[in-house]
Amino acid sequence: MSVNASGWKPEMHDAEGDAPATFTGNRALMLEEGLIFEIGDATRTGVDLPQPPKVASRLGGLERNRPIGLPGLAEPEVVRHYTRLSRQNYAIDLGLFPLGSCTMKHNPRLNEKMARLPGFADIHPLQPIETVQGGLGLIHLVGEWLTTLTGMAAVAMSPKAGAHGELCGLLAIRAALEARGDARRVVLVPESAHGTNPATAAFCGYAVENIPATSEGRVDLAALKSRLGPDVAAVMITNPNTCGLFERDMAAISEAVHAAGGLVYCDGANFNAIVGRVRPGDLGIDAMHINLHKTFSTPHGGGGPGSGPVVLSEALAPFAPLPFIEADGDGHFRLVEEETAGEHHGSSFGRMVAFHGQMGMFVRAAAYMLSHGADGLRQVAEDAVLNANYILRSLEGVLDAPFAASGPCMHEALFSDEGFATGFSTLDVAKGLIDEGFHPMTMYFPLVVHGAMLVEPTETESKAALDQFIGALRHVAERAKAGDPLLKQAPLMAPRRRLDETGAARKPVLVWRDPAPTAQAAE
Ligand SMILES: *Cc1c(COP(=O)(O)O)cnc(C)c1O
Repeated sequence: MSVNASGWKPEMHDAEGDAPATFTGNRALMLEEGLIFEIGDATRTGVDLPQPPKVASRLGGLERNRPIGLPGLAEPEVVRHYTRLSRQNYAIDLGLFPLGSCTMKHNPRLNEKMARLPGFADIHPLQPIETVQGGLGLIHLVGEWLTTLTGMAAVAMSPKAGAHGELCGLLAIRAALEARGDARRVVLVPESAHGTNPATAAFCGYAVENIPATSEGRVDLAALKSRLGPDVAAVMITNPNTCGLFERDMAAISEAVHAAGGLVYCDGANFNAIVGRVRPGDLGIDAMHINLHKTFSTPHGGGGPGSGPVVLSEALAPFAPLPFIEADGDGHFRLVEEETAGEHHGSSFGRMVAFHGQMGMFVRAAAYMLSHGADGLRQVAEDAVLNANYILRSLEGVLDAPFAASGPCMHEALFSDEGFATGFSTLDVAKGLIDEGFHPMTMYFPLVVHGAMLVEPTETESKAALDQFIGALRHVAERAKAGDPLLKQAPLMAPRRRLDETGAARKPVLVWRDPAPTAQAAE
């Protein structure tokens, strides 16, 4: 192909004006290509199948009468397509992933190796119980670690995510209240709660009411106490909370709620900051979910499966969901699938999932627990808190930290957009971080802080990695404060420029349609 045939002209440059446009649209290792539907072709395939024999149709006229539009590609084309796409994305294996409240930590490869052992990976949920004793034993072991670490009486292993665990906890609370003939209707949730908390309470049919925060970012104990009464079923409190602060009044909160006849749900998604240091059971909590995919390092962030076991107090243990595992003390395990009244704990509220929960996540969590040991897990919490405080203090004077005066933070550092030049916002800082090669931090959450930026480094980052991130965030924040017009256009160096995110959310286009027929008609 000659230079002329490519249509190249000397004045052709890309957006930044310092690199020439390329024939392919590729920019060195950053390869451009269409959607899989655009590059595919129905006549191509990655497999060779024999012609099916002619059979008489029994579909009664419901046969498909046109192609369904699946892309056809050869195997190497599929491999290249998805490999190219993956290279345009950010991942925990590429660098620091500062998403606050998400605990994006390194996933040790040992966990993956264990999860792939055929004895675990090939297990089938309908196998006879005698043949899966090792699997049940592993689930039981993870459960024992969780009840020990939290100081709680029982654990429900089957919930499949944090939000699913919240549902499990509230269903247990509702069952316990109903069992004593107490039809309470209200769940109290702090202003700074994760959106899943009020959503879960509403899904369970409760009316949700807010508890205000104090100026130092913690639950207002006096306001909470004044709202408690015979209509309050439960409070849902995140500890450490979403402002990155430990709720020091937690034991007093639990005591007041219990005195008023209610129960205490704790959102344990931020357990990473206190694992091995604090036992939530000692703070009077009745139910708490644990995100294995956060604290216990099982992969997430790319849509991988979650796992949200729920630890329960003595008061809620009898209402735990089915199935649960019982050890007979002889090295054998039993799966309790149904309960007759009076047997076992006696009053399970029912079933959350078809089978036992996320086996692969249990194996990864067990590998993580056993390789760290109790002392290692305590050090996880200490290093995670140290790293977050290093970020908080290193950016003092550059970024406003609304609760910096409330004492050291826990696992995450919270900043605001206070002091940015007119017209500049948290969104611009997030986009600027993309050009710096980082995934942005959590933005505009918690809602109690204007233009919130929530940064959670986790314990797996080295000081060098933290220093590089701090330098990048400092640089971008200074640009936002100085009103650098180029920052409004960021990201300038990403595979895609700034998108119309509002348009995408309000008018999502979820189905690809072949533009060719219309294009031809227009010609
Ligand atoms: C992540 C998170 C949840 C929800 O957990 P999922 O596993 O995503 O359902 C709830 N609360 C807080 C504070 C969280 O960070």
